[in-house]
Amino acid sequence: MAKVICVLYDDPVGGYPKSYARDDVPKLERYPDGQTLPTPKKIDFKPGQLLGSVSGELGLRKFLEKQGYTLVVTSDKDGKDSTLDRELPDAEIVISQPFWPAYMTAERIAKAKKLKLIITAGIGSDHTDLQAAMERGVTVAEVTYCNSISVSEHVVMMILSLVRNYIPSYEWVIKKGWNIADCVERSYDVEGMNVGTVAAGRIGLAVLKRMKPFDVKLHYTDRHRLPKEVEKELNLTYHPDVESMVRVCDVVTINCPLHPETENLFNEKLINKMKRGAYIVNTARGKICDRDAIARALKSGQLAGYAGDVWFPQPAPKDHPWRTMPHHGMTPHISGSSLSAQARYAAGTREILECWFDNRPIRNEYLIVDGGKLAGVGAHSYSAGNATGGSEEAARFKK
Ligand code: NDP
Repeated sequence: MAKVICVLYDDPVGGYPKSYARDDVPKLERYPDGQTLPTPKKIDFKPGQLLGSVSGELGLRKFLEKQGYTLVVTSDKDGKDSTLDRELPDAEIVISQPFWPAYMTAERIAKAKKLKLIITAGIGSDHTDLQAAMERGVTVAEVTYCNSISVSEHVVMMILSLVRNYIPSYEWVIKKGWNIADCVERSYDVEGMNVGTVAAGRIGLAVLKRMKPFDVKLHYTDRHRLPKEVEKELNLTYHPDVESMVRVCDVVTINCPLHPETENLFNEKLINKMKRGAYIVNTARGKICDRDAIARALKSGQLAGYAGDVWFPQPAPKDHPWRTMPHHGMTPHISGSSLSAQARYAAGTREILECWFDNRPIRNEYLIVDGGKLAGVGAHSYSAGNATGGSEEAARFKK
């Protein structure tokens, strides 16, 4: 029987939920640009359930077994003796989420002789060696737009919490203090600040729109310029390159994919071109920033704060410097995995699988690699090559 491997994050430490904080999630009709939400013929889950963890199985078991597939669901993904490695040789389809990525390196792709399709149940397929997928003719697809708005909300939350010094102030309450001076000695208003995004795609543009009511000055840089009417409506300053933007910004948010062009973009040299005391919020990918340069800049005061939810590798080793560096507001990779977003990416994954089994084309906007080359969104937003180097370090989390 053909096999599907689904790599998902672990269930909550207290066990798979028996009830939820809310009874429903809002039902959306369309994404902001008019793109339709996922359209599978059917779903076997209730929106609002935890679907992204092992017991949630993305709601796929019934459907896949009916198609005659064996479904292997595991969180054990790193190291040579992992369940993922053991199951790979006869897998036809591998599904994982960027939050807990199955790093599909060239070595793993070579080992998976029957592999035809890799699905990212979410957005961002940098955990797959796209070059190797192209060379092997493996299709790579993701659920474009499914959690872009979720992430933009997280970005706004993190900008406000860094600038206003929320987390240390919250900690004073837990420590039973009333230390106002300690809280406010690093607290500012966002109003009037220069806020810029690296990339104004689905997330970047949503962040700009959400930040406008805070009366900030908005900036962006991107490979393609936004339409004139959007620039006018949001009063945007466009920068042809990232250097010119970071020089004037108090807050920089990073919203581009990780690909060879953006790997290590925020290195020591670029960080030193930023205003002293600037903040970075990176919910795009950890590897876009130089890990040690960020930690050094926070220690020296070149950066006043850094927040985000993306690390490299994932899960981040226990001694990853971003866990302990000063003035950070990091979370594990969660911004795109709210229960609301899970319903969309689980439905989108099902839609991709239904198309695959019915021999119908997968939506162009979901394609990253197809027919041996970058395709769809992949052709627009990525560059050829590989960004998985060093991912074997993820095995250290277990130790
Ligand atoms: P989009 O494809 O809508 O936007 C990506 C944008 O990045 C495009 O406008 C693209 O430009 C631009 N871009 C690509 N390369 C560069 C570059 N070198 N310099 C400047 N801009 C560049 O994707 P989303 O906005 O939905 O998502 C963006 C990324 O965010 C994802 O790839 C993923 O890595 C991350 N993400 C994180 C999540 C989380 O949970 N933290 C969840 C979802 C996404 P153009 O197309 O104009 O060439």
